[in-house]
Amino acid sequence: MTDEKSQVLIIGGGVIGAACAYYLAKSGRQVTIVEAGEFGKQCSHANCGLVCPSHALPLTEPGAVGKTIRSLFQQNAPFRIKPRWDPKLWVWFWKFARRCKKHHMLAAAKPRAELLFTSLSLYRLLMETELTDCEWETRGSLYVYQNEESFAKYAKTDQLLKEHFNLAAQRVDSAALEDMEPSLRPGLAGAWYYEVDAHLRPDRLMQAWRCVLTELGVTLVENQQVEGFVRQQGRAVAVKTSAGDIAADVFVVATGAWTPWLNKQLGCKIPIQPGKGYSMTMPRPEKCPTRPLLFPEHKVAVTPMQSGYRLGSTMEFAGYDTRIDPRRLQALRDGAEVYLQQPVCEPVQEEWYGWRPMTYDGLPVIDRTPAMENVLVAAGHNMLGVSMAPATGKIVTAMITGATPGIDPAPFSLRRF
Ligand SMILES: Cc1cc2nc3c(=O)[nH]c(=O)nc-3n(C[C@H](O)[C@H](O)[C@H](O)COP(=O)(O)OP(=O)(O)OC[C@H]3O[C@@H](n4cnc5c(N)ncnc54)[C@H](O)[C@@H]3O)c2cc1C
Repeated sequence: MTDEKSQVLIIGGGVIGAACAYYLAKSGRQVTIVEAGEFGKQCSHANCGLVCPSHALPLTEPGAVGKTIRSLFQQNAPFRIKPRWDPKLWVWFWKFARRCKKHHMLAAAKPRAELLFTSLSLYRLLMETELTDCEWETRGSLYVYQNEESFAKYAKTDQLLKEHFNLAAQRVDSAALEDMEPSLRPGLAGAWYYEVDAHLRPDRLMQAWRCVLTELGVTLVENQQVEGFVRQQGRAVAVKTSAGDIAADVFVVATGAWTPWLNKQLGCKIPIQPGKGYSMTMPRPEKCPTRPLLFPEHKVAVTPMQSGYRLGSTMEFAGYDTRIDPRRLQALRDGAEVYLQQPVCEPVQEEWYGWRPMTYDGLPVIDRTPAMENVLVAAGHNMLGVSMAPATGKIVTAMITGATPGIDPAPFSLRRF
């Protein structure tokens, strides 16, 4: 617990660091964000922008292992592991595989759903008051299927989500789908509509956070990488950066996919792997979808934004590989082509990749570190960092101020590793 005058230093200026900074500054703390590059320019920059409670289930569904193994041999599979010698990655996958059972999946989905629903409510408030220029829309999302069998099979997942999380989708058959979403090609099998989902434009969200944080007096230090901590009697007193030490009373590590790089300093073994995803941003096509579309059979997401149009997704475990692989972008185009009348709209304005911070159990880490009790971690939000950011910021703030967190943080504990 800290008093109001205490100084909090947040490492990492992505959507998680920004949300933590916001609620901490609102609680009266003096906040500084130290960012290795530019604020908001990594994984939080050109993702698909969905704020989606419909994604409560983690990837560890029964049967996921078989799909993963098959993908090892497919160059263009939407889910791909680059075969290589990387013991940490293989241990990660072994642990992931062990969780691909229904009871594990539901156990992880419960705290995920809490983060997702709480964040959605918080976003609604923020969009009305402070984050007003993010192209926020509440039109739901549509899971569209090409194949009859896969479409029908989703009824089981729908039932599960309805039963456990009160997350019922509306079943849209082929004929109704053509009326509901004229941008789609005729003859698709059908879709499941989640009215609850919302979406926004991620780079606008980060710009809006930047403005709000500046107004709240948050100091932003860019282009300075944190390399370690200065410790005194079991506590951190400053971070070491390339440009010198920066002192504070409390520290929050919100470094996304890079978090394991600080494992040694933190005295932890945080098992985050970078899950590389791609997006392409274009002008809105003439036949633009009216709401976000997901094509689960091809693992492509389509986000119609007020000022643009984005195809995104794919999941590649290729380590910290910074190359843009044109085959992955082509896979996005090919996948969208199956469903949409106008899948792309030239000129492509941005081709992008981001490293999702993936944990093997699908849950983030929101906890104090064992080595230094005044250092917290808020990372590992997998495919849902945008959707889970406000609730994460609230939990971190409660842990620092001594308030009661609205959500039980136990499932996000570091002790589970
Ligand atoms: C293709 C794609 C589509 C996606 N779509 C969605 C979606 O629709 N909805 C959704 O909710 N999520 C989505 N995501 C996931 C989401 O983008 C991430 O979960 C989220 O951006 C993670 O935020 P973060 O703040 O943890 O990480 P980041 O945004 O990566 O921020 C971490 C920051 O820490 C900085 N940093 C790292 N190490 C240091 C250091 N030592 N010192 C200083 N700074 C450091 C980095 O430079 C970086 O800026 C998608 C991701 C991808 C790739």
